[in-house]
Amino acid sequence: MKVAIIGKGLAGILTAMAWKAHVPSSEIEIYYDPDAPIEPVGSGSWPNLLDLITQFEERSPESWSSIGPMLYNNWRDAKWDQTVKTGISYSGWGGKDWFHDFGINRVAMHFDPKMFCDDMSQYFKCIPKKVGYNIDADYIYDCGGSPFSGRECSSESWDRYTLLQNPLNRVLLAETDPYTRVYCTTDNVATKDGWCFVIPLQSRTSMGYLFNSDITTDEEALENFHEQFGEAKVTGWRSFHNYCAKNPVMDGRIFMNGNKYFFIEPLEATSITGYMVWIERTLRYIMQGASIQEMVADNQRDICENANFLLYHYAHGSKYDTPFWDYAKSLWKPTDTWNNILKDAKQGNWKHRVQGTAYNYSYFSFLSVIATYCNMETQQDFKSLLRNNW
Ligand SMILES: Cc1cc2nc3c(=O)[nH]c(=O)nc-3n(C[C@H](O)[C@H](O)[C@H](O)COP(=O)(O)OP(=O)(O)OC[C@H]3O[C@@H](n4cnc5c(N)ncnc54)[C@H](O)[C@@H]3O)c2cc1C
Repeated sequence: MKVAIIGKGLAGILTAMAWKAHVPSSEIEIYYDPDAPIEPVGSGSWPNLLDLITQFEERSPESWSSIGPMLYNNWRDAKWDQTVKTGISYSGWGGKDWFHDFGINRVAMHFDPKMFCDDMSQYFKCIPKKVGYNIDADYIYDCGGSPFSGRECSSESWDRYTLLQNPLNRVLLAETDPYTRVYCTTDNVATKDGWCFVIPLQSRTSMGYLFNSDITTDEEALENFHEQFGEAKVTGWRSFHNYCAKNPVMDGRIFMNGNKYFFIEPLEATSITGYMVWIERTLRYIMQGASIQEMVADNQRDICENANFLLYHYAHGSKYDTPFWDYAKSLWKPTDTWNNILKDAKQGNWKHRVQGTAYNYSYFSFLSVIATYCNMETQQDFKSLLRNNW
């Protein structure tokens, strides 16, 4: 089976790795536009990225002739500027500091996306050519990046996308010296204007000061960033929309993925997981005959619930009483699904069930949702709740 992937950013590379891991005999070609570099952001992941890397490394011998026998990476020697990520630390959110942890037995990775994509692309046939959909392949994944980047959106582009509600639309990117800690987390620090991620890599600390340009000017953001975080080298600015394609599949054989398909702000670093969930659904359709309509409906629901769950994080404000936080708080509207999940959780039914099937909220495990609820909303001790109700 011949699979063509447009784009060798994170979405394209992860799509290629997942195909090789699950369908080792597949023939993969990655096309990329030499004049369009990949996004420099996307350094935070979930533990399932490490699962995919392992599955790719251990894939069956059928693919050895094209890629070579075994790959083997480890924390010390991999060339991705990697550090261990044990979870996400929230400072100044909802009135207190709290930790969205991955559990004692699971870790994820912080890494440099370009170094990761460059390293992984050596295992695939990569063709430097700007292409359309008229390429020779059974299936095409369009991972060509944001449909809105670097230019004003045409009304035609907007027709194909739904806007997702979110209080942020701009980021100031910066970096400082690397630092070490006993345990390593992504720090999400509340600010007057929104929040700032602080991601420890081996060679540097990557930072993103996220704000809303309708409320805060670039000059104010820069000043407030330096006031709160001190000296740091500014590396760029980016505007973004939060959106989702209305129809991510064309002719039953062309699938959008990555920023081409959807984008939601990086609060919980959900993009990579979103791409992986979608690849698995397309594989279930192609390899196991699952209904593509069902796969698309499930995926659209997950993306919308994810966007909604991220909004929930703003619902209880922060230690800052500012126009940004007033606006952010006003966006949260609990849905019936959300209310049902919480009702089940409070009764100790940790696996919410819909028609007999265990159901997570969005990409999140049920425990992540209830931990957020306890820490942000009730100020309840989440661990004793677990002990008492299990
Ligand atoms: C501030 C910020 C922080 C973020 N942090 C995280 C995070 O911590 N974790 C996370 O999971 N996500 C994060 N994201 C999301 C991140 O942007 C995406 O995970 C990632 O960049 C997805 O990129 P992509 O592969 O879709 O597109 P890109 O990286 O833009 O790659 C596009 C590729 O398509 C190629 N291309 C385009 N058109 C053509 C064509 N016609 N023919 C051939 N090739 C073509 C280009 O050459 C390029 O190779 C963050 C986003 C922002 C803005």
